[in-house]
Amino acid sequence: MPSPTLETLVIIGSGPAGWSAATYAARAQLKPLVYEGAISEKNRMAGTLPLGQLALTSEVENYAGFPHGNLGGFLDSALPKERRMMMPPHEGQGVTGPELMELMRQQAVNFGTRIVTDDIAKVDFSARPFKLFPAEGGEVHAQCVIVATGASANWLGLPSEEKFKNRGVSACAVCDGALPRFRNQPLVVVGGGDSAVEEATYLSKFASRVHLVHRRDALRASKIMAQRAFDNPKIQIHFNTALAEVLGDDAKGVTGVRLERTAGGGTETLDVAGVFLAIGHTPNTAFLAGQLELTPKKYIVWKQHFRTATSVEGVFAAGDVADDYYRQAISAAGTGCMSALDAERWLAHHA
Ligand code: NAP
Repeated sequence: MPSPTLETLVIIGSGPAGWSAATYAARAQLKPLVYEGAISEKNRMAGTLPLGQLALTSEVENYAGFPHGNLGGFLDSALPKERRMMMPPHEGQGVTGPELMELMRQQAVNFGTRIVTDDIAKVDFSARPFKLFPAEGGEVHAQCVIVATGASANWLGLPSEEKFKNRGVSACAVCDGALPRFRNQPLVVVGGGDSAVEEATYLSKFASRVHLVHRRDALRASKIMAQRAFDNPKIQIHFNTALAEVLGDDAKGVTGVRLERTAGGGTETLDVAGVFLAIGHTPNTAFLAGQLELTPKKYIVWKQHFRTATSVEGVFAAGDVADDYYRQAISAAGTGCMSALDAERWLAHHA
């Protein structure tokens, strides 16, 4: 067995925080190694494929620097042919999440970032150099680590939801919404935040009707997003309503839902071909197995004000894995930058 390589800086995660950290670290000559995650069915189901949550979204309207415009030529010139070929053609007026992520990845590569397409399954932060254990086996040692593993979609936990996962139940409209089984069919989206409205709006392009089911009497989504749902004739909002059961059979998968009124009681059954969950996220911190201090909601704790330092010296955290408050692509990229600068300064004194 070859002895483990000693890396200066390993970045775990490949969303906006990971790539922004990598670009800064590479430009600072730290030769970062990024574990971008594995491409596997397990990660697809968990929403933890490489390129993070943005790769599961449609148009990104609020990332600074990307106003509406035809990005086709820019994408063709900025990305290598082999990766561009794998992407759908640029159709919209604004940048999409997957396009933005490919651009960020390429920017990091351009400055010398090395990438491994695998998960880090386990870590040992008890002594330096830190030990990282990739899922495919082996061991990597690192003087410094940035954790940028983001967060992934929540499920309700209903047995019927579990039963019909992949057969009409999904937590990613952008990944699954265009499948033939959902076309011109009535669908349900559960949730009341920006994600739920975004998913409902996206699905309304394919579906005959979208029922947006929300447990309270007001949407949590931002005003501009909420207005889009109100204005869309295909979206019907069911306030004070919860998904009680997904209905279906072995042959067809999902055929309907049973909804329960959260205020005043009563149930209702709807015929639908698909159910999309958009009820928030959980940070991807399970692989840390308690080695970094976490909040009660399992987010990594930043130990110093306006710094990305964690409870272990030499380990930094960036993006949604440490942020349950802003949770925006641009704030994740911002803390990614901060983590690389923090790592660079820390390494200057400790490496
Ligand atoms: P979120 O804002 O936390 O909203 C989650 C929604 O799911 C809430 O409406 C919540 O209900 C509901 N919910 C949670 N648990 C539930 C349960 N067990 N049963 C039923 N409903 C449940 O999450 P998000 O929509 O994923 O957004 C996360 C962050 O990303 C936000 O900061 C958002 O602004 C941002 N984002 C932005 C955009 C954009 O700007 N284009 C798009 C997507 C996301 P309550 O309202 O009752 O709590």
